[in-house]
Formats: sequence, C-alpha cells, structure tokens
Amino acid sequence: MPIAHEPAAPWAERVTIALSDIRLRENIARSTTRFAAQRLTALGELPDPAALRARGRAIRADAIARLPELHAELRQRIESRGGHVHLAADPAAVTGKVIEIARAHGARRIVKSKSMVSEEVALNPALAEAGIESLETDLGEYLIQLAGEMPAHIIAPALHKSRAESAELLGAPADTPAEALTALARERLRERFLQADIGITGGNFLVADTGGVVIVTNEGNDRMCTSLPRVHIAIVGVEKIIAHAADLPDMLKLLTRSATGQRISVYVSLIDGPRGPGETDGPEEFHLILLDNGRLRLRGTPHEEALYCIRCGACLNVCPVYRQIGGHAYGSVYPGPIGAVISPLLDPAGAYAMLPKASSLCGACWEACPVGIHLHDQLVALRQEGVRSAPWPQRLLFAGWATAWGSATTYTAFLRVGRVAQRLLPRHGEWLRAAPAILGGWTSTRDLPPIAARTFRERWAERRP
Ligand code: SF4
Repeated sequence: MPIAHEPAAPWAERVTIALSDIRLRENIARSTTRFAAQRLTALGELPDPAALRARGRAIRADAIARLPELHAELRQRIESRGGHVHLAADPAAVTGKVIEIARAHGARRIVKSKSMVSEEVALNPALAEAGIESLETDLGEYLIQLAGEMPAHIIAPALHKSRAESAELLGAPADTPAEALTALARERLRERFLQADIGITGGNFLVADTGGVVIVTNEGNDRMCTSLPRVHIAIVGVEKIIAHAADLPDMLKLLTRSATGQRISVYVSLIDGPRGPGETDGPEEFHLILLDNGRLRLRGTPHEEALYCIRCGACLNVCPVYRQIGGHAYGSVYPGPIGAVISPLLDPAGAYAMLPKASSLCGACWEACPVGIHLHDQLVALRQEGVRSAPWPQRLLFAGWATAWGSATTYTAFLRVGRVAQRLLPRHGEWLRAAPAILGGWTSTRDLPPIAARTFRERWAERRP
C-alpha cells in the first residue's frame, strides 16, 4: 500500500543537497527553535504536564485498541444525520472516491484546507489529471502549491521558506511585510471560495460518541471550505479517532500547545454532518473518507503505538537530524522522527528503508511527544527489522564479524592481521583514512584511529604475575 509520493533522488543525495543549502538550514533552524521554545513555555503553564501527557497517551491507546467498535459508532452517528462514511484501503481508493463525488456533482473547482492525508494520497495531482481544479487555501499549503513542492513540515508546510521567498512566490516585492503577504493571499483566495463546488478538509480528531470531525486551524480557511461549497469531503486517517467528546479538551490542550505553543488554536470546528433542517450554514452533502493505507495492520504489532500520533510536529522541531536537513530530504510527506517511523511502516516496499537510520537516537522526540510515543525504540526496532531483511552477503559479512569479535582468540588474531594490513592505508596524521572496498563508505565521512602497536590486552597480559 504505497504512500503516493516517491522520492526523486537517492537518500544520500537528498541529504547532501539539504546540508549544502545554508539558507534552507537557517530558515528551518529559526522556525523549529521558535516552535520548540513556544511549546516549552505553553506546557510550563500547565499544573501537571506529565499527568496530561499520560492521560493523552491512555486516550489514544484506548481508541486504537477499540478501533473497529469506535468506527462503527462514528459511522452510525454520521449516517443518522445524512452524512456518508467511506473506508478507503489505499490512496487510489481515496482519489477515486473524491473524483466520483466530484463527477456526480459536475464539480470543476475544489478548495482545500490543510490535510496531510490528502498529501499522502497525492490528491491534487490525481484531481488535476481528472480535469478538476484544486486550490490549497491554508497559506503555507498555498505557497508550496505555487512552488510545486510537498510540505516540509507536518504543521507548517512552508517553514523552509523565508519571507522574501514567500513574497517571490506571491509575485510581491521581497521586502513586503508578512501581514501584507497574508492580505494578498486572502484577497486572491476569497473569490475562489465563493466559486468552489466542493470543499475538502482533513481532520485532527474523529469523535466516536458524538460522531464528528474536529478541525483545528489558525486561519479559518477550513470554515470557508466546510460552509461555502455545496459539498464537504473530510479525508482523515482511520487512527485519528477518540472515543469520547469529553476527552477533546485534553487532546486539544496537548495538540495546540505541542504544535505551536498556543493554549488553543484560533479556530476549532466540530463537523457532524451536512446542513440540518432549519440550519443556515453548512454543506448540502457531507462525506467522510477514512484512509487505511497500512494503518490497520499495525494494530497488535510492536509498532502499534505509532498510531497514537496526533500529528503535532513537536518531534520534528527538536530532532537534531530534521533541524539540519529539513523535511524534503526525507522524501516522504511525513518527515522527522514520526515520518522515519511511519513512512516505512505504511509503505514497506517504498524507498523509505533508510529513514529509521536518520536519527541520533537521543530520545528528544520521545521527550517532546505529547502522547509519549517511544519513537527512538520504534526506530531501533525498524533498524533491526531492516538488518534481518538485508541481502544475504551483508548478513553473512556481519555474522562473520560478530563471530570474530565474539571470541577472544579470533578477536586477537583479527587485531594482529589488521595491525599489519593498516600499514597499506593512507594516513592523516595519526589517523587512518580511505579504507578499501566496501569499508570505504565508513571512512568517507570519518577518520579511524589505527590499531595500537600494543593493545591493552597485550599490556595486561605482560603485567600479570
Ligand atoms: S510522534 Fe508525537 S511529537 Fe511527533 S508528531 Fe506525532 S504526536 Fe507529535
């Protein structure tokens, strides 16, 4: 079940490109530092952030454990109000359903609020191919749509762009103030909201016991998407559900404080179906598309807790790897620590096998995660699984290595041979560089200390009575 985007260049090349782009790194460092600091301040205002985090984790764990039951409840409630709920197995099922709905309504124009799942299924290219215009209305998403890029961050898709780069994309002078750029985008988008036939949104949470979709934004564009067009389609991952509306305040507290350091986002909308009798606002038709794409099969596996994620982006902001290379180098719509976990899980056959190695395993991501996902353990587990499925020559090499180094006799023999062989290697002062053949990858970015003329073991053996 693929993630619709496939990286254009190999991993090492993408990382090299990102690391050599100083302006990109400055933009990322500035934004992630600000987000991380705001998060700490906002959480520091709470009487007991650790207890809230534990509660958030318990709410998510309960929901994932009871997913089928909660889905049934959600479906029953939404359908009882005249809405439609569809379960989509993969990206093609989502894009196919959206195109089917659009054709049924003769729709030509769609306005979209921010939705990572729609990025995952590459909805815009599919709509364009079907001759349907789809316009992003979140400012960051609008900018990257103009740039022809994918999001660089889960909650701030254009965080890698400076103000001057954003101005250029909008056709404004580089020194245009941020407020003027926002006003310019708003003016351009306003007319398009009024012309749109369909509004598409994501959803931050699904609530089973009231049967609704919760959408959290700071720009209010989601409300234009859900109330002006005749049809509203919400596309949400199957795992985003919680059992009770009574749990929402805690989850929102965790989400908004961890994401942007806000006590609450500017707009929180609860959508529970189409416009009802006597209501003045809302769409005539409401569809909820739940995307599986490999999520359901993670239940009951050691990777189940990856489904607890509420996509706050906090782990990205503190990750020493993400902070250096940004989002695009990951090659997945989901970057950072959570992206390095879920991209290979959702798309095991895709080009994401290297991502779990993009971590220092410092644990900063786990510390920042509002639902306590042990991201570093997940990354180690994925590395282990990667080793087990490595090509046989590689496994043979490392099995031989482990055997040689697991016995004092072979280890000593290895040192003796190595001590002679290392004379053939080029040196940089005291250090060895440029190891031969397949070992060259190891020394391409680091020098190695030579094997000592007399090792500790040899000296110890000499001193023993
Ligand atoms: S893994 Fe945790 S910190 Fe990262 S996006 Fe998900 S909820 Fe936020």
